[in-house]
Amino acid sequence: MSYDVDLFVIGGGSGGVRAARIAAGYGAKVMLAEEYRVGGTCVIRGCVPKKLMVYAGRFADEFEDAAGFGWTVEKPRFDWSVLKTRRDAEVTRLESIYDANLMRAGVEIAPERAVIVDDHTVRLVKSGKTIRADKILVAVGAHPVKEPAVPGIDLAITSNEVFELETLPKRILVVGGGYIAVEFAGVFAALGSRTTLLHRGDKLLRGFDDDVRDALADAYAHRMDLRLGRTIGGIARAGGTLAATLDDGSVIEADQILLATGRRPNIVGLGLDAVGIVPDAAGAIPVDAFSRTSIPSIFAVGDVTNRANLTPVAIREGHAFADTEFGGRATTVDHSLIPTAVFSTPEIGTVGLSEAAARQAFERIDVYKAAFRPMKATLSGREERVLMKVIVDCASDRVLGVHLFGQDAGELIQAVGIAVTMGATKADFDRTIAVHPTAAEELVTMRVPACTKHPVGVG
Ligand code: NDP
Repeated sequence: MSYDVDLFVIGGGSGGVRAARIAAGYGAKVMLAEEYRVGGTCVIRGCVPKKLMVYAGRFADEFEDAAGFGWTVEKPRFDWSVLKTRRDAEVTRLESIYDANLMRAGVEIAPERAVIVDDHTVRLVKSGKTIRADKILVAVGAHPVKEPAVPGIDLAITSNEVFELETLPKRILVVGGGYIAVEFAGVFAALGSRTTLLHRGDKLLRGFDDDVRDALADAYAHRMDLRLGRTIGGIARAGGTLAATLDDGSVIEADQILLATGRRPNIVGLGLDAVGIVPDAAGAIPVDAFSRTSIPSIFAVGDVTNRANLTPVAIREGHAFADTEFGGRATTVDHSLIPTAVFSTPEIGTVGLSEAAARQAFERIDVYKAAFRPMKATLSGREERVLMKVIVDCASDRVLGVHLFGQDAGELIQAVGIAVTMGATKADFDRTIAVHPTAAEELVTMRVPACTKHPVGVG
């Protein structure tokens, strides 16, 4: 059987691009289709432009804090259009690097939508071409949902459109309590928008450690109008203003309403039914540890598989797929221990089990906790506290989870993640000499009574 290509990748995001490049490096003939912009959600309308906006917002705190150190800062002014122009240019620069890297690797790029026709065939929708491939990799990602389905919901925007806004909204309502809601609410509040964050649960960031969730809620309650345990009943437009009615009858007026109530895999019209791939209840493509679907020639990586929807995970999955299928090295990705950061302000960094999850999984755990005012705050006068938490298995002394809340938590957790991934014990943390004066030194100086004094269920 002869094929046009060894590998056809559908989707030019983090996972697809990595798989294509690595497979091509092993000598495979690779073609990749991308209907929008190469780089995918992370580069084009996710992590990268979002982080640039986070940086922009953080200057507000810096200007304020500088006064305590003797600086006089005239009333700072922020220009949204400067940020947008520079941010968009950076995204375009990165996109061209992605394009160039693919081409340098010998990958042929089809700038159009591709759909699956059969086990070994894809059709390029615009040009009408049909390509026969030995293997097909689906890396089409996910899209933000417009939920809940209440009257007027189409008046709201999602994290796709937020990057298109031509002006900084004076008032913004952000709906949701996950990564995206928390990050954008933080950005807009910092940039000066009157910000309301509305979440149906009683705590933000389900699945994170409860102490971190509480610390974030405390900080956010001072930085914005935080409404927990409330839902949106409908949205109406009156002139240039949007009015959201909540379940308690109260009304929030805003210039923009940003929905961040989750994302769903991009499977509509992809041709999965033509080959008999049945999506799971979340609309994701089920795969095994080697990213194999139920069809031997078709594979899937990244958000469309809904394993851990994070860029570095998609990259690993794409790389492991290429190593396995084209490099002769069977490789899987360990999804059990993933360091992650939420770029709220203050920031969150986390790796491993939360206290609640550790209590479920282990007979006896010890919890080391430090909450303190960072040194910088002594002169700046900023009230926010840093929280650091280390969860340890009493039987083995192994560190099961580390949870950080405070400045640079995302940077810190990357390094801590190495230790936890290596199986570090609390004794390893303890024998590490502190770096003084830093906030991070708390990680190696925390002491609590011995495990034996902590029966199950007691912190
Ligand atoms: P999440 O699934 O993380 O959060 C969705 C939020 O919306 C939850 O708080 C959920 O509440 C709430 N919600 C869901 N449905 C409704 C509804 N019908 N009405 C009201 N509220 C609702 O999705 P995000 O969109 O925030 O992020 C998607 C993924 O993107 C993340 O899981 C993450 O993997 C990734 N991401 C990672 C980032 C990073 O690494 N820094 C940054 C941004 C995104 P409840 O908790 O009650 O279910």
